[in-house]
Amino acid sequence: MEDTIFMKIIRREVPAHIVYEDDETIAFLDAKPNVPGHTLVVPKKYARNIFDVDETTLNAVIRTVRMIAPAVRDGVGAHGVHINSNHEAAAGQIVFHLHFHIIPRHDQSEFEFCWPKREYPRDEFVAVAEKIRAQLI
Ligand code: AMP
Repeated sequence: MEDTIFMKIIRREVPAHIVYEDDETIAFLDAKPNVPGHTLVVPKKYARNIFDVDETTLNAVIRTVRMIAPAVRDGVGAHGVHINSNHEAAAGQIVFHLHFHIIPRHDQSEFEFCWPKREYPRDEFVAVAEKIRAQLI
């Protein structure tokens, strides 16, 4: 089992503002939040990320995300949430222990510049979709 900072929080060796816990998952405030109320949901059984997590563990995490999301939204008086998860360093993963971010959103101005939309040619859509389908055979 990997000894991540999140494992230390689970074992109460590192303090955290825990908002929920059950046998399989824990949720606590992000120490460096994007906005107040930014919460992380983490499995107690170690997985690095989406590429190695087993289905039972992922189901438990998603169940908790679903349960916590309205509490985060309403707890800070927000109107929506971003649910984000980074997998591997290329995607911004810093803590290599699977987790989902629940980030309250009050309005679009909080995030509209951080995820710009791009266009690419239709041929490229066709080619990329084919390459992804080929991986699933
Ligand atoms: P990432 O791996 O980029 O998806 O994000 C990891 C997140 O964990 C960051 O937003 C950190 O602020 C957060 N984090 C790291 N250490 C702690 C900690 N001890 N308590 C709470 N949040 C943490």
